[in-house]
Amino acid sequence: MHKSFLMVSSMKIKTSVNVFMNFEGDANGNVTGVKTTLVHWTKDDTGRWSMKDVEGSEKTYKCDLVLLAMGFLGPERSIVEELSLDLDPRGNLQTPRSKYNTGIPNLYAAGDCRRGQSLVVWAIHEGRQCAQQVDADLMGFSSLAGPGGIVTTLM
Ligand SMILES: Cc1cc2nc3c(=O)[nH]c(=O)nc-3n(C[C@H](O)[C@H](O)[C@H](O)COP(=O)(O)OP(=O)(O)OC[C@H]3O[C@@H](n4cnc5c(N)ncnc54)[C@H](O)[C@@H]3O)c2cc1C
Repeated sequence: MHKSFLMVSSMKIKTSVNVFMNFEGDANGNVTGVKTTLVHWTKDDTGRWSMKDVEGSEKTYKCDLVLLAMGFLGPERSIVEELSLDLDPRGNLQTPRSKYNTGIPNLYAAGDCRRGQSLVVWAIHEGRQCAQQVDADLMGFSSLAGPGGIVTTLM
């Protein structure tokens, strides 16, 4: 039974300040906490970025379970490999421009796995547009709402 857990998510504070993390553990390899330090990114005269600890910003969060909610890692490789799906140069599922069909007949992709890491509103938009394309592919036309909720017949 876990007594306490820490969910590590996007920890960017503001543009040039990030959180740097170190895990702490016991002799048996169990996690006991996470130590965080604020780091400040600065650009030198040559344009090179370097990271500097913000003095006194260290904090330790005690826990015995850490859940990493990082995401932003692209579609799961297992399904890509099992189905030999084509990827675009950014590592997302490849579809033709403004379309949702993959290289496999009747297999469509929408949302983060197609677009790359984005926002919920884009995932909803892509899901709706994908549904419109599926409808058109099955029926020969679609009267489902297009972008902006405008109903156009897609052939
Ligand atoms: C840490 C974090 C913070 C974020 N904060 C925000 C925010 O504040 N505002 C915002 O708008 N967006 C935010 N986002 C982005 C947002 O969560 C995504 O853009 C959105 O959820 C994408 O929706 P999706 O349906 O494409 O994918 P997902 O929500 O990832 O859904 C994909 C689903 O497919 C399932 N799945 C995967 N593989 C399989 C398989 N083989 N079989 C069956 N199911 C499978 C997964 O379990 C998952 O449920 C955040 C993302 C992350 C990671």
